[in-house]
Amino acid sequence: MKDFNLDNLVRKNIKNLKAYSSARDEFKTESDNMVFLDANENPNDNGLNRYPDPQQQKLKRKLAEVKNISSENILLGNGSDEVLDLIFRAFCEPGIDNVITLPPTYGMYKVLADINNIENREVLLNHEFEPDLTAIFERIEDNTKIIFLCSPNNPSGNSFSPDKIEQILNKFEGLVVIDEAYIDFSENDSWLSKLQSYPNLMLTQTFSKAYGAAGIRLGILYASKEILEILNRIKPPYNINELTQKTGLECLGNMDLIKSQISEIQIERNNLSKQLLELNFVQKIYKSDANFLLIEVDEANKRYNQLLKKDIVVRNRSNQPLCNNCLRITVGTKPENNKLISALKELENE
Ligand SMILES: *Cc1c(COP(=O)(O)O)cnc(C)c1O
Repeated sequence: MKDFNLDNLVRKNIKNLKAYSSARDEFKTESDNMVFLDANENPNDNGLNRYPDPQQQKLKRKLAEVKNISSENILLGNGSDEVLDLIFRAFCEPGIDNVITLPPTYGMYKVLADINNIENREVLLNHEFEPDLTAIFERIEDNTKIIFLCSPNNPSGNSFSPDKIEQILNKFEGLVVIDEAYIDFSENDSWLSKLQSYPNLMLTQTFSKAYGAAGIRLGILYASKEILEILNRIKPPYNINELTQKTGLECLGNMDLIKSQISEIQIERNNLSKQLLELNFVQKIYKSDANFLLIEVDEANKRYNQLLKKDIVVRNRSNQPLCNNCLRITVGTKPENNKLISALKELENE
């Protein structure tokens, strides 16, 4: 790491900000015997009449245990999307700073850059869907604050080469966000064990994919205590509601079930991949480290619409760079995948 200086990366107004202090921030207790007359809540207990813990301590402790990391390195958000937005708002000065993203990739980075009025410098992945290091380093300048790496990448499904990620972490003096939404389906290791080695590393994960809890909106950021101290200043005080905190905790108590679902999905992914390859209009199946497959077909728009008529929705990614005539297909349950394959077989002669 050359010259990492977090202080220089934070926006001035955020550096000088005095955060809102909520009733629950000012008084914390583990005792069950307290009388709480401080937050203007309805005093009648219905299980949800109290504000939730703004720091989600129970949930973080459990997550820290499962992930073998300190809870001081965890920040939770209303989905990864909130976490990513907090990162933009803390470090990128609107109209001045820029970030680097690597299309084809997750669309939210660009949307968040646009919302926050931050220039998004797009550097296309190469034809193996790997980061083009030369091109990336050419686009970096003083106001480049963040590089977003999605690995495994959506929509291509591959994980980036660890060596390339490491070079970016080593050479770039700004922040590197690695989005690991699909890491549980991958054969590659998470970068979580490297958090201490790289002060500029921020890692996001989510309850929305492998954990089967997209409905509760719970995203995770792992980063240094120093980075999290800054983000905690601007986080809405009660961003994770009580129901989500409870369900998230239950979810983490069920890791055996989640792990068995992950292996099932991986097996189904590999079966699906073999069966898709036999279809006469399927030209290529990209190797996937995630719970979806990117496939190239003869005519993506036509095949997309034909599937819709058979009540099957996939994602048409053909308008994305390097994804000409590509469909992204999420791995479903066994019966759902069988239904997809039969539907596609009927299309072979259309
Ligand atoms: C699905 C997905 C997410 C998840 O976002 P949430 O807001 O946590 O549901 C994050 N990143 C990528 C690349 C995704 O595909």
